[in-house]
Amino acid sequence: MGIHDEDIVRVREATDLADLIGSHLQLRRVGRRSVGLCPFHNEKTPSCSVNGELGFYKCFGCGKSGDAITFVREIEHLDFVGAVEHLANKAGIQLRYTDVNEGAQRRKRNELTDAVEAAVEWYHQRLLSSPDAAHARGYLRSRGLDGDQVRHWKIGWAPDDWDQLFRALKIKQETFVGAGLGFVNKANRVQDHFRARVLFPIHDVNGVAVGFGGRVMPNGDGPKYKNSFDSAIYAKSRLLYGLHLAKDEIVRKDESIVCEGYTDVIGFADIGIERSIATCGTALTEDHIRMLKRFGRRIVLAFDADAAGQAAAERIYEWERALEVDVAVARMPDGIDPADFAAADPEGLREAIDNAVPFLGFRIQRVLDAGDLTTPEGRARTAETAVGVVREHPSDLVRDQYLMQVADACGVNTARLREMLERPAPVVEERKWVSNAPTSLDQPVYDVRPIPASTERTMLLLCIHRPDAVPVWVEPHMFGDVRLRAAFVAWLDAPADDIASLIDSVGPDLADAIGQLAVLDVPDTEPERIVGHFLHDAALRKVAELQREAQRTGDPALMPVIQDIRLLIPQVRDASFDLAVAKGLVPLLSTPGTQ
Ligand SMILES: [Zn+2]
Repeated sequence: MGIHDEDIVRVREATDLADLIGSHLQLRRVGRRSVGLCPFHNEKTPSCSVNGELGFYKCFGCGKSGDAITFVREIEHLDFVGAVEHLANKAGIQLRYTDVNEGAQRRKRNELTDAVEAAVEWYHQRLLSSPDAAHARGYLRSRGLDGDQVRHWKIGWAPDDWDQLFRALKIKQETFVGAGLGFVNKANRVQDHFRARVLFPIHDVNGVAVGFGGRVMPNGDGPKYKNSFDSAIYAKSRLLYGLHLAKDEIVRKDESIVCEGYTDVIGFADIGIERSIATCGTALTEDHIRMLKRFGRRIVLAFDADAAGQAAAERIYEWERALEVDVAVARMPDGIDPADFAAADPEGLREAIDNAVPFLGFRIQRVLDAGDLTTPEGRARTAETAVGVVREHPSDLVRDQYLMQVADACGVNTARLREMLERPAPVVEERKWVSNAPTSLDQPVYDVRPIPASTERTMLLLCIHRPDAVPVWVEPHMFGDVRLRAAFVAWLDAPADDIASLIDSVGPDLADAIGQLAVLDVPDTEPERIVGHFLHDAALRKVAELQREAQRTGDPALMPVIQDIRLLIPQVRDASFDLAVAKGLVPLLSTPGTQ
């Protein structure tokens, strides 16, 4: 942590969360909390709930939750320290930095990105004016890129030489290598990473230069593309070319366009389609999708048809389901570079994007297009192949609709196709989709599992909102719901009245549960009654458990305990409930059972 803990607490305390969030969306007051339309996902009815007193918000739609710092991180796309700085600025708080660990790391990172920034400028100037870049300029012109575009995208030229960049930048070897600009070769000399390539600078989402994609000249040596290798500042699975420029339009249109290459992104932007991005030398990853989803829910693949057809289908369906995005495919003409298409027929490209079809629909259409529908045998074969494609989709409702389309196109009976679909799929090598571990900057996205109302939930609301009213004898074993029990244990261990550190101390699932509780109100019921109802349900559960245990073991000692609990149950349920009765019940509930 780069900032003193006390200063972070001061910043949290000085920030009125309802005011902060209210400056981004309209909040309506409901009891002790406020609700509004969630800024992190699209919705028509408000599910983002803010508890100003506790300084905590939670969206019941998408699961995002946290305190003021989390909110600023999410909405301003800042890291933790950046978010604290942002809030401190607003509150007029002077921060003190610990400057040992992360403070040093931040300086280190800045040093590396400064080096990349200097390299971007140097390479760019080389391309603009150096005689040895003449053929590179000619090549870019032949690709339809004029001087304005070259300047706008800061395209560069890496000369055909060993270490010109290193000598020109005059920075420490360690920094140069750490920034991915070069490496130490076998002769123990520093060598530039890029050589004889046109360079496309790659920025992070905030527009900080972190690396390059390098394209070889026609007839040049080596692979067509060579990118910066992963380093402290460059992670190819999380970077998207052009995202820092595209994000505004992605938000406005709620849609991003994924291109295959850098020049496609540039070509699309040139005709006014400014929401396109490209991966940097990798296939799309889950992290990419998460990143795009922060800005817009619909993702259009503008690949050439073969590439789109080969995209890993099961991953895409999994992203659609788990990350709640819609993936569609724009039908691009075969064999034409999308950038060329953009330049030649801007209207056609816009139409292709507007008419993008859902991924499954696109795949089925390809099967139908490729099949021979003129003979009965051909139609049967095509139908069979198409059913195989339909089968991959996880939703049976979706499958059924496409099945009808296939039946229609192939002139076969839908019922027969359904039968075919229900037969087990031919055995193919099983490919499991392994989710990437969530990274620190992106909150993991998972289904929100709402906590149903129960006496246990109410008990936990009491813990969080009225801790003074919770008797000391309430114990974890009294909770039947595993998740709520774990939440209670975490609450016991956490410092009083500090919901933020309570949530920090638990895993995502539990943090989600506690977050839900933090923004719910305690019912108006007297705390004693809440305790009584809780105890009542715990006692019922205990009786059932002890009965099972008695049946299993035949232990006669259990029967009197069961009787005693039964006698007390009506009294804790009763309006005449008092804590003294409860205290009599409590020891009985810790009788060992099968739990
Ligand atoms: Zn939300």
